[in-house]
Amino acid sequence: ASAVDLVVVIVGNGAVGKSSMIQRYCRGTFTREYKKTIGVDFLERQIQCEGEDVRLMLWDTAGQEEFDAITKAYYRGAQACVLAFSSTDRSSFEAIHSWKVKVEDECGEIPTVLVQNKIDLVDQCVIDPKEAELLSRALGAKLIKTSVKEDINVNAVFWYLATQCLAE
Ligand code: GDP
Ligand code: MG
Repeated sequence: ASAVDLVVVIVGNGAVGKSSMIQRYCRGTFTREYKKTIGVDFLERQIQCEGEDVRLMLWDTAGQEEFDAITKAYYRGAQACVLAFSSTDRSSFEAIHSWKVKVEDECGEIPTVLVQNKIDLVDQCVIDPKEAELLSRALGAKLIKTSVKEDINVNAVFWYLATQCLAE
């Protein structure tokens, strides 16, 4: 059987861990080095999901308003979306709604997951578990808490999106 291609966009404010998540998932590596992403790039990984070969193409977007014009064009054609914020950054949490609107404007309603990253930084967490849950319900998007650093739940994010897309 031929592979199913799925294009996934990962959006959210700068420094929440989007590039790290893509690296972790596709290359199995993590680095502390912070590089501000310029423009857009993608990595891919093939998985077996419900008997299908699924090729996930993960698009990395800048996450900076100044690159809005570039990144918007790449949302087009995306079949699934990761909305990412950081446990340690309230403004990244508050920006989730506007990221969702931006993706929806280009893609319509697509399978979406809300990711709270950096859960390893327990002492620096500024997000109440209840408000994360409320946001998840308001968006109608499943909440998955991850640590890209400790490799917690990263696979689950993309597995969930793949199953949602295959079910459509
Ligand atoms: P992006 O701007 O959203 O692409 O964020 P990056 O992937 O560049 O990550 C920003 C910084 O957060 C980097 O220094 C990463 O090493 C760090 N980082 C990413 N994920 C985690 C995590 O789960 N835990 C911790 N402690 N640091 C993380
Ligand atoms: Mg980046």
